[in-house]
Amino acid sequence: MAECQVSVVVPCFNESEVIGAFHTALAEVLASTRRTFEICYVDDGSRDGTRGQLSTLSASDGRVRYTSFSRNFGKEAALLAGLRMARGDAVILMDADLQHPPELVPRILELRRQGFDQVIARRDRVGEGLLRSALSSGYYRAMGHFMDVDVVDGAGDFRLLSRRAVDGVLALPESNRFSKGIFSWIGFDTVSFTYRNVQRAAGTSKWGIRNLLNYGIDGVISFNSRPLRLAIHTGLTLFLAALGYAVWVILQAALHGVGVPGYTSLLTAVVALSGIQLMTLGVIGEYVGRIYHEAKRRPHYVVRETSETRVAPPAPPQEETPPAAPGTGERRKARTVRQFAVFSAIGFVNTAVYLAVYATANRWIPYLAAHVLGYTVSVVVSFLLNSSVTLRTRPTWRAFVRYPLSSLAGLVGGGALLFLAVELLGMDKNIAALAAGVLVTPLSFLLARWAITAGAVAPRAPAPAGELPRARPADESDPA
Ligand code: UDP
Ligand code: MG
Repeated sequence: MAECQVSVVVPCFNESEVIGAFHTALAEVLASTRRTFEICYVDDGSRDGTRGQLSTLSASDGRVRYTSFSRNFGKEAALLAGLRMARGDAVILMDADLQHPPELVPRILELRRQGFDQVIARRDRVGEGLLRSALSSGYYRAMGHFMDVDVVDGAGDFRLLSRRAVDGVLALPESNRFSKGIFSWIGFDTVSFTYRNVQRAAGTSKWGIRNLLNYGIDGVISFNSRPLRLAIHTGLTLFLAALGYAVWVILQAALHGVGVPGYTSLLTAVVALSGIQLMTLGVIGEYVGRIYHEAKRRPHYVVRETSETRVAPPAPPQEETPPAAPGTGERRKARTVRQFAVFSAIGFVNTAVYLAVYATANRWIPYLAAHVLGYTVSVVVSFLLNSSVTLRTRPTWRAFVRYPLSSLAGLVGGGALLFLAVELLGMDKNIAALAAGVLVTPLSFLLARWAITAGAVAPRAPAPAGELPRARPADESDPA
């Protein structure tokens, strides 16, 4: 006996209201069939707690497995993931909203036992909206003429596939998946029966008119090249008609001479032909778009977690500090040395700025006042350069306000050294200022780094109104 006889695949997108009831009903029915089974839920990026419910279900029942997507990828992708997950000899596809009644499962399994590889449960359209019902049946009737495969009205995704049918479906590599067409394309012995349509047990349908329209276009384009052929036929017919018209016009001219040309008919022909050309281009564009899409060979979905590889819920936003690794201390030191070197190089530029202002100003104002003026100018330049070059951080108003405050110590310390050098040692004013500047540099570096980067890696809370975004080092992870 196979390990698992029946797998039930259930795509779920925001089905938290109904998933519990569905699971209870399904598990009860499956248990009554006396077959070994598993239920494979696929959470298609739900945002309403469905994933949590599936995780709980699978933790409490070994026959429940699930795969959860990183975002909503659509029902087709969810079905594909479910088919890949399923390990049973037969796989039943069902919606989670109880519109596919679990009570029908024994009947489906009985038909499988009779040897059918595909068993389709078709719903009638009782209770469906008039517009949707009319559009759907019209669509399927038209598609009957158009498509290279048979797609039956009401035959949705509520069906059973034998293992070899599932393998056939999984062997199709296309990205653009239109399962109704794929199920029909793989062939095998197929049987269907009709059941009374039921309404959703809870929640809302995820298919609006627009989705349905796109789904319809997918159906036409995915399974045939007839629209392209139709374009060729239309073009050919029009060409022949135009040729006939040209012959008629020439004959008219030969028999009756050239009268006032009938530009109305000309204009009509131009407009009609432009319309047909545009339509044809659209059809070709659809196919080219699909070729492009297929050529990218993107996966159909991205998995967030599965029952087998369940991961803990995301931790609250962490500081960007990486865990201490061997050599982290050395790397930090090396970075500090690099920063200090750059800071010092910028310091030369600033010193030049400072000296230029100081040397010019101390001719007219007291040298200490000139020092303050030169310092102030160089502080602005140094703030901008150290933010963007030394610490690779976007300058912010908050850091800008802090920067001169932190530099106050440098200003005072530098000033004190300058005073001592000039008054006690009798040094030249300019040379004394240079020496004081060099001596006070390490202190300035530490204070400047603190001013620019403090709080730069705080959690990304929205900034209060009127505040610039907080600085975030572009490539440094532990700036202070
Ligand atoms: N579904 C899904 N992803 C989607 C939309 C729907 O997995 O993007 C699932 C949904 O949870 C349900 C099934 O597909 O189990 C059918 O969806 P719905 O009932 O909304 O469609 P309707 O019955 O109205 O055609
Ligand atoms: Mg439904």
